[in-house]
Order: sequence, then structure tokens, then C-alpha cells
Amino acid sequence: MSKKFKRTTVTAALPYANGPLHIGHIAGAYLPSDIYVRYLRLKGEDVIYVCGSDEHGVAIQIGARKEGVTPRAFVDKYHELMKQTFRSFGISFDIYSRTSKPIHYQTAQDFFTNIYRKGILREETSEQYFDEQEGIFLADRYIVGTCPVCGYERAYGDQCEKCGSSLSPKQLLNPRSAVSGKAPVLRPTRHWYFPLDEFESWLREWLLKGHAHDWKTNVYGQCKSWIEQGLQARSITRDMDWGVPVPLPDAEGKVLYVWFDAPIGYISATRELKGDDWEKYWKDPETRLIHFIGKDNIVFHCIIFPAMLKAEGSFILPDNVPANEFLNLEGDKISTSRNHAVWLHEYLNDFPGRRDELRYVLTSIAPETKDADFTWKDYQQRVNSELVGILGNFVNRVLVLTGKYFNHAIPALGHAGAISVRLENTWQDINTELNRSIAAMLAALDEFRFREAQFQMMNIARLGNKWLADTEPWKRHAENEAESAFILNRALCITATLAVACEPFLPDTAAKIREQLNAGKWLEAKAADFWKSGELVVPEQGTSVQQKPQLLFLPVPDEDIEKQLAKLRKKDTAMQQNNHVSIKPAKEQVTIDDFLKLDIRVGKVLTAERVEKSNKLLKLLVDTGLDQRIILSGIAQHFAPEEMVGKTVTLVVNLAPRKMMGIESQGMILTAEGPDGKLYLLRPDGEAGPGAMIS
Ligand SMILES: [Zn+2]
Repeated sequence: MSKKFKRTTVTAALPYANGPLHIGHIAGAYLPSDIYVRYLRLKGEDVIYVCGSDEHGVAIQIGARKEGVTPRAFVDKYHELMKQTFRSFGISFDIYSRTSKPIHYQTAQDFFTNIYRKGILREETSEQYFDEQEGIFLADRYIVGTCPVCGYERAYGDQCEKCGSSLSPKQLLNPRSAVSGKAPVLRPTRHWYFPLDEFESWLREWLLKGHAHDWKTNVYGQCKSWIEQGLQARSITRDMDWGVPVPLPDAEGKVLYVWFDAPIGYISATRELKGDDWEKYWKDPETRLIHFIGKDNIVFHCIIFPAMLKAEGSFILPDNVPANEFLNLEGDKISTSRNHAVWLHEYLNDFPGRRDELRYVLTSIAPETKDADFTWKDYQQRVNSELVGILGNFVNRVLVLTGKYFNHAIPALGHAGAISVRLENTWQDINTELNRSIAAMLAALDEFRFREAQFQMMNIARLGNKWLADTEPWKRHAENEAESAFILNRALCITATLAVACEPFLPDTAAKIREQLNAGKWLEAKAADFWKSGELVVPEQGTSVQQKPQLLFLPVPDEDIEKQLAKLRKKDTAMQQNNHVSIKPAKEQVTIDDFLKLDIRVGKVLTAERVEKSNKLLKLLVDTGLDQRIILSGIAQHFAPEEMVGKTVTLVVNLAPRKMMGIESQGMILTAEGPDGKLYLLRPDGEAGPGAMIS
């Protein structure tokens, strides 16, 4: 990056307003962006930091339906929760907006209109699945059916999670709506498509050639493989009533697709923040645009959104997209549905006054180049041995010694000659190391390597401890006050440097150290020099430090960690109990003759229908090889009738007939219950047609 920019626009991924924030979100996008922005602000640069809630899309609509509230009430709840949590955690956005605001509707509609007027969009009518009961067109994710490749019965309309095949909804056999469970119907509908394919050669030039060296390899690699697979036009509108209406006549009931409108949310938030002054943050080529995201958002921020910006024509493009990989928890994927997560609002409740501790640990293990694992033991260990043992301990020792030997006043350096050459040389060595660490920290911050940057910041404290250990002022003070003054003056210089250097990473701690140093204006002026040129912060002689320094960090006791681990175990067990079929006790023993009395055969379902007034029973006509007969089966909540047609089943054919709901059943279909309570059909593992006997 040789280009000189005048200002920077930093965006952090818009979190989706359908649940609370967990530490994976924080480690992925918000903490790295917050560190970076704080760093730029400290350097005195012109930077804006924008974010907000992403509030559209079918998942919001369905979430609201499940909770029995309107989409508006649903997003209001989660927007407020996320906004509060970000604020409590101290993420320093300049604005945290939301995509359901009028200013966003207007911005997104203007954007659409601009590219529409240029004739870039394609208009197509196609047949899409419609859920008649719910009255909605179904997004790919909300159509479930049998995978045409592997036969898995719960494949999604976009992908089979069993064999990994990528699918389109119409390829699914026996499709049904995940919302109502009903079979959907095809209905023609008109939509607008963004021709991503037409941007392929531009993307190869701009991204694959232009950013081969300055983008992170995990980001670049994912983009490359995506482009090489070939790009296709993407629909940018949907049939829904929740979202930004398509700003065209006769487009009633159509909204912008959430992935088209969401990234425009960064622009709307900037307009809201800056008023008439917003354009320079998005349209001036001397503005640097940086997107902080997690790896699940790479394709949208590196390929689709830049192509949209390019198509519109008046916007700048992202200069870098330093996406992180995923954070795991205790060796397992963070999962909202399994509740395997550390929720940020719960952490802030359980660990009051310990925001910096979490920031520190999450940055120490940041998943910058590969997935990383958060464990509570590691959290405790890093807080206790690094924050308490290295940083907190150093600052406290310096303040206590200054109080003891110099009555809390910052001692003078003393004139040369009063200090031994050996002591002078020891300082020169430490000073060289300090300068090296500071330079490495600044370089790492510029290159989005925050893990390394924080390590180098902590090195300043490590070197401080080494300085005290090497010079032992407590042994020297009685015989040579000039030397102990020199040692503590330099130690206070390291302390003041730490107060400045730790601010992007540990803002609360930076404030505490300043307070304990009674640092006034002298520190502000020198802090600016530190961020510009990496100079050590020299404290003003003669000023006094606080008389009763507080410890910066307290050790995390074992019981706090045990509580958190127990909480996770409780969540896991609760999930397991919910999921587990209770194992029923064994039945009485039978003889082989008893068993052989049963006639169990393979059959094939010819027709299937619901039984009137019963929500449990399906009426099946089954070819048993011997005959065709009616069998009632209590599987209506697990299989739609049309799903059963043509299926191979196993059945007991010599059960005495039984009448249910006025219909006589002549046998029994065999099933097994899965952990989710769903019934599965027992079927031969290979070719065995109707009539084949089971023994
Ligand atoms: Zn499959």
C-alpha cells in the first residue's frame, strides 16, 4: 500500500438482528476494527467507523412468525440488545444505525435506481416455490426435500448437508416448505438480476491482479476460487412484504434482496452520521475504504458489493478486507442453536469491570489466519499470568517504589556523571529493545496483525520488568540516590509509554494508568508523538503520581472459571436431554419360535393420504408382494403423504386387522425414532422388492 490516503472509512459487518452477540462475533469483526479505528484516531487521522443492525431478510420474517410478533417488533428487540451490548463493551462506533430506517430505504432505493437506469439489471420471470398456507415465496433455505444425489431426505433448497452437493430448489425430490411443512407450488414471478458474470474480467483485474499482495491470503484464496468457479447473475429482489420496496412502478410486493440492501447500510449510516458531508467518505478516491468481517462474509464484501459499487460508478472500492477466520469454544464450534456460546451480554454481567480482560484474551488468540479456540482455562491463565503478572505487576511496582523513595514525585534523570557507565549501558540495551517493540507494534497495526501488535505492546511491560530486575533500585537506593532516581525515572517513562501504547487494545487500562500517573496535558502532547514516530513518552519531572495506586487487574479465581464451565455443561446437557429419546426398558424374553410367528416383509407404498380428523394417521395403500392392502400408520407428523408415495417400507403383514378412525388397518409399518423425535422408516439396505421376507 504505497498510495497516500486523506481519510479512512471503516465498516464492521452489520450483525443480523435475530439474536444476541457472542464472542465469536466480537473476535471476528468488532474487536479488530475497534483496535484499528482507535489507532487511527490516536494518530490524528480522519476516520469514520460505521456499523448497524441488518434487519431484513426471510430469516427475520420467519423468526418473527415463530415468536408471534411483527418483524418490526422482532428487529426492535434485537437491535436494542445489540446496540446496548456494543456500548457496554465499549466498541467505539461513530454510529450504530439500522437498515430499517427511512434514510436507508432512500439510500438503497437510489442505489438500485442508479444501476437500473444504466440498463445494467436483467429482468426475468421464472417459476419459484410458493407456500400457499403461509402465503409466501420460499427462500432456498426454506425448502426441504430429498437430495437427488444421495437420497438424504432433509436436504435444503440450496445445498445437501449430507453429501455437500450444491442444489437448486427444483432439483429436490418431494419438496416441502420448512415453514409450514406443506408441499409448495410453483408460481411465476418477475425479478431483477445483477449480472455478476459481466464483471468477471474486471474482478480478475481489480482483485486477482490488483490485490494479490496486500490482501490476507485466506481472503484472497477464497475470492480466487470463487471467481474461478465462474460467476452467475444473481437475483437482487424478492417477493416479500418486509424489506426495502423495489422503487419501480408495478413492483408491488417486491423488496430488495437482503444481501443487496445490507452493505448499502454502511453508506446510509455514513449519510446519517455526516449529513451533507457524507460523500467524501464514499466517493473521494483519496478515501480508503476498509471492511472488517468474518470469513462467512468474504464473497459478499470482496466480490458482490465491489461489483455493485463498480456498476453504480460513483463510489470508491474497498482497499482492504481483513476478514478473520472462526473462533471456536472449548474445542467445539460456537453454535447459537445448540446454545454453545459465550454471550457477550452475559459475560459483561458475570465479569463486571473486566472488559479489557476479554479484549486482551480475544486479541491474543485472534483467528487472523486460521480458526482459533477460546477456552475458559486459557482465559484465566492469560489474565492471571500476563495481565496481572506482567502488565499490572510492573505498573504497580513502579508506583509503589516511587512513593517509597521519592514521596510519589517523579524523580529527575540526574546529570550524567552521577550514574555509572554500567547502568547507562543497561538502559541503552533496554531502550533499543523498547524501540524495536514499538516499531514492530506500529507496523503490525498498519497491517491488521493485531495479535502481533498486542504482543509487542506487552513486550514493553516485559522490558519494564526486566529493567527493574536488572537494576534492583531497592538495593541501590540507600547508597546511591542518583542512580535509583535514574532507574525510576526510566521506569516511569516505560509506564507512561504503556499508558499510551495499550490504549487501542485496552482502553480502560490506559485510562487507569493515566489516572495513577496523574498524567495531565504533558501526556497528551507526547502521546501524539508516540503514535506518529514511536518515541518513548517521557514524563514531566516534578509532577506527582497517585499516593494509593490501585491494582490494574485482579486474578480470576478458579470458582469463576468453574461457574462458566458448569454453565456450558448445563447448556449441553439440557440440549442432550431435549434431544435424547429416553431408552425404554428391555422387554421380556421370547423364543425363536415366538419371533418366527411374525411375518415381516418389504413393501412399497402405492398411494398415501391423510386420514380425516386425524393429525397422526396416514392411510397407505401398500404393495406387500402378496397383495395390495390398506395400512394406517401414525407418521403423519413426520411425512407428507406425497413424500411416502413410491417409498420402500418394512411391515408386519400378519397382525390381526385393527380399526382406527373407521378404517381397517391390515398391518404395521416399522419405524425408529431419531434423537430429534422424528420417525424414520426402516428399509432394506439394498435391492429388496415387495414381498421379500425379513428374518
Ligand atoms: Zn445429498
